[in-house]
Amino acid sequence: VDEVALDPWGSSTVSDYRKLFEEFGIEEFDEVLDEVPNPHYLMRRGVIFGHRDYRPVLDAMRNGDDFAVLSGFMPTGDPHIGHKLVFDEIIWHQQQGGDAYGLIADMEAHSARGIPWDEINEHSRDYLLSLIALGFDPEAGELYRQSDNDRLQRLAFELGGKANFSEFQSIYGFDGETNVSHMQSVVTQMADILYPQLDDPKPTVIPVGPDQDPHVRFARDLATRMRFFKVTEAFASFELADAERPLVAAAHDAREEYAEDGDVPRCGEAADWLADADLDAAGVLVSESVRESAVEKLENAGMEPLRPRIRFFARQATDEAFEALIEVIEGEKRRYDQHIDAFDVGVDEAEELAREVEAHHGGYGFIPPSSIYHRFMTGLTGGKMSSSIPASHISLLDAPEEGYDKVKSATTGGRDTAEEQRELGGEADKCPVYELYAYLLTGDDDELAKEIYDECVGGERLCGGCKEQAATMMREFLEDHHEKREEAEAVLDSLDIDLET
Ligand code: SF4
Repeated sequence: VDEVALDPWGSSTVSDYRKLFEEFGIEEFDEVLDEVPNPHYLMRRGVIFGHRDYRPVLDAMRNGDDFAVLSGFMPTGDPHIGHKLVFDEIIWHQQQGGDAYGLIADMEAHSARGIPWDEINEHSRDYLLSLIALGFDPEAGELYRQSDNDRLQRLAFELGGKANFSEFQSIYGFDGETNVSHMQSVVTQMADILYPQLDDPKPTVIPVGPDQDPHVRFARDLATRMRFFKVTEAFASFELADAERPLVAAAHDAREEYAEDGDVPRCGEAADWLADADLDAAGVLVSESVRESAVEKLENAGMEPLRPRIRFFARQATDEAFEALIEVIEGEKRRYDQHIDAFDVGVDEAEELAREVEAHHGGYGFIPPSSIYHRFMTGLTGGKMSSSIPASHISLLDAPEEGYDKVKSATTGGRDTAEEQRELGGEADKCPVYELYAYLLTGDDDELAKEIYDECVGGERLCGGCKEQAATMMREFLEDHHEKREEAEAVLDSLDIDLET
């Protein structure tokens, strides 16, 4: 089994999706599929195969609460049918009620790939036209380019203050030769991922290919660090699975958990301290001002603060959070016998409260972003679909006839002879043409997709006719897409996006 390398700028393919679950903690999408209201066909067909913490987004979707979707495009070439998967994912989330963001990663294209600015401008326009043509509503959502977004740049600057070079080395393999703009483009990307939450924290999903997972993990980490940023009134929290368990047991668990990770030494220290303190409950420990807001909140909700008792609730603490925690604990301990209000709030409420308080104190209150992962499309010539090999992909700008021809010359999962194919059936699972049907051409029509699959593996379908059908559908898709792109021109021009400088 090949090594799984997750490199956002590499050319590696993912040869074994299972390893992503085992090694990187990506979860199987199947496990949440039943919870998705009206799942997209890419979800139903397993093209979207994995996720990281997608449930908060689903909960918001089902409850009519705010949530957001964001993904970006590096304008290094023409948008192609592989990018269409991401366009569709953004658009679908927008249609389910999410705030939708599409961004042009022009700084990344320039710094990581060296694409000249005039080319970037041209490609950026093409990406945005296709996104709008496929159904993105730019009035309801937001489109921007990284280099032209001041609020984004300010956030990137602050995030950069929470990241350091050794992390860039370990996450991305940066070294002494890496140019500084490339590093800047990384913090900009972190800012992109958190940008939908700049005004209001909300669950946010980032649809990406699995090669982008390092960005998602780093952004989740930074989101947590930023939660404590600027919060001078120390609220500190660390991960206790269950607020109802006795603190001592929870502290021991936490210590063990973090001891395994080995990278958050202070966690163990704090856990020790908590254990020694022999406090008998888990819950929330808050500072004076946090407490005031909480009392108010509880009173408004018709609840009463409980009897004096220290309760801790802590989650994903960073070193600073722990320092803050210890400081607060010590302060509170001194006052323990006198007067400590405590609140019997649940985990969700505590988190919500923490965010409100953070926002109030000028912090960000980010919720760690979620992500969903889709499979890469196989190239039409076999191997990887690559922007730099025109015959391997169908560009969304290809002339309809060109798209037709490319499908006609695609490799298939067919057998050597027609007889063999009738006898053994075709190998639809290995067939780039079948992928075209499943990922794009049959659209929402599951029955048609299944029929084609069954006929292929059952030996009733031969590749010649099958490719003719797919090629014709591709030609129709491109004709329609080009018409819609023309209509999108006026829409794009009416938006305030500078695509010329
Ligand atoms: Fe692929 Fe169609 Fe041939 Fe089956 S019949 S292997 S789906 S081209």
